[in-house]
Amino acid sequence: TNRTFTMIKPDAVKNGHIGNILAMITNAGYQIVSLKLTQLSVKDAENFYAIHAERSFFGELVEFMSSGPIVAAILEKENAVDDFRTLIGATNPNEAADGTIRKMYATSLGENAVHGSDSDANAAIEGAFHFAIREQF
Ligand code: ATP
Repeated sequence: TNRTFTMIKPDAVKNGHIGNILAMITNAGYQIVSLKLTQLSVKDAENFYAIHAERSFFGELVEFMSSGPIVAAILEKENAVDDFRTLIGATNPNEAADGTIRKMYATSLGENAVHGSDSDANAAIEGAFHFAIREQF
């Protein structure tokens, strides 16, 4: 098995979808390894999305992602990263397949309900951004 990292974004938290989204994730076969409700500062959001710093939507993305509480989680399953991208659907909810999390809960391209890591390497980086990885005793 391997791991991916997800955030339930401020729009979906505000709209009351935490429970339904976590149910879709566990029903798809994921074990929740780490889980917390938290909020990104502006600096946190700038750091997390640094790869998009030159994009036209960067300011909007940072403002949105720091606008309210999020849920951060590390998830485990076979083929975790790719299967999760399928489960959440296309970035733009208008293009997301039926039955995907974004089709059901996203409101727009910017406010698209969930994040999912795009590679094993980024899943590890993003998980470590949100959770202290300690030795287990
Ligand atoms: P995520 O990284 O959140 O899982 P993604 O990999 O599907 O999303 P990216 O292209 O990495 O999409 O964009 C990161 C996030 O930036 C998107 O999820 C969306 O919230 C926002 N975003 C992307 N394109 C736009 C845009 N044109 N206008 C506003 N926001 C955008």
